[in-house]
Amino acid sequence: MNYNLNFNNIGESYLFAEVANRVAAYSKAHPDKKVLKLGIGDVTLPLAPAVISALHSAVDDMSKSETFKGYGPYEGYGFLRESIQNYYKENGVRVALSEIFVSDGAKSDLGNILDIFSKENVVLVPDPVYPVYVDTNVMAGRKVIYADATEQNGFLPMPDYKINCDVIYICSPNNPTGAAYTRSQLKEWVDYANKKGAVILFDAAYECFITDNSLARSIFEIEGAKTCAIEFCSFSKIAGFTGTRCGYTVIPHALEKDGMNANKLWLRRQSTKFNGVPYIVQKGAAAVFTKEGMSQIKANLDYYRQNAKLIADCMDELGIWYTGGKNSPYIWLKCPYGLKSWEFFDKLLNEVQVVGTPGAGFGNNGEGYFRLTAFGSKEVTAQAVESIKKLLQR
Ligand code: PLP
Repeated sequence: MNYNLNFNNIGESYLFAEVANRVAAYSKAHPDKKVLKLGIGDVTLPLAPAVISALHSAVDDMSKSETFKGYGPYEGYGFLRESIQNYYKENGVRVALSEIFVSDGAKSDLGNILDIFSKENVVLVPDPVYPVYVDTNVMAGRKVIYADATEQNGFLPMPDYKINCDVIYICSPNNPTGAAYTRSQLKEWVDYANKKGAVILFDAAYECFITDNSLARSIFEIEGAKTCAIEFCSFSKIAGFTGTRCGYTVIPHALEKDGMNANKLWLRRQSTKFNGVPYIVQKGAAAVFTKEGMSQIKANLDYYRQNAKLIADCMDELGIWYTGGKNSPYIWLKCPYGLKSWEFFDKLLNEVQVVGTPGAGFGNNGEGYFRLTAFGSKEVTAQAVESIKKLLQR
């Protein structure tokens, strides 16, 4: 017996553990100080009332033999897939029902999708990046190359035709940088992928934060995307499902190569390894797209947007360079005084008890940058912003 030796090639899952360790040590030494946490990417507002009531009624369905549900369809119930299809349609994008697969969250599908791709594929990942893309590929023994996201390109790397790759990850609006691609920038990526015969794995987990009309909410708004892209989406950020777990993946029928069809491969993969998302959860997710659900959810998103604006306005006032804050719940700022990410982390924690996430944890190009999130409460965000202002204006 041998274990998968590729696990030796992934780093320790160190970033959030180290953040938690340093915060715990500080709190132990200073029990009287309140720590203001703007580090995590988890939501804080509860589920919307429309979702809660749909969950309750789905629980009741499970109590009666006429409405009880056992195993569901691998690709998700029709009622939810139709709601997702409509959501796309409202945004001007047409997807077939059979192109939509309901999942237990974007993270699982982003990792699991690799089952349908060859181990020989070369994978292009932006740096800095959501660590899941790199680690899942390294675990499988794939070669990962990086597209540099830097201050010069606004943390939005563009295709380089000199580079050959097979699988391309794009996350827009991005975690951690908050930067989002315009439609014309995405068109360049789509053209590049089609030219190279590569596939784009488009992570749209934060699409709901987009308010600017020039930015794409879905890769399928871009002409040519259906022959080169798969989209991953989630109820986590739009509707606070981080603990409830539901997402969806769209795989166009047109995505094929050498007589193999990605949509069919994925259905085959899912029917082999996955038995679907709980009926109760899918009912809750479908409520997100009702008129009532959407208006409640919009209010929640506005709450986070106001937090993001508070933080972004503070950076503007202090003259600190940043990306995100608009069309994104993340603010990615350049550490002042030339500090490194962890040095700035310690300064904020020790001097004003504010916790963020050091950019270095997201890749080499994240060194010298820092992520703050808008997912905290309004009160904590306002206090943290005041404290940061006082500290950095000194
Ligand atoms: N994709 C990105 C870029 C994320 O930041 C996250 C979570 O923070 C996810 C996917 C995970 O989404 P889910 O909760 O649906 O698994």
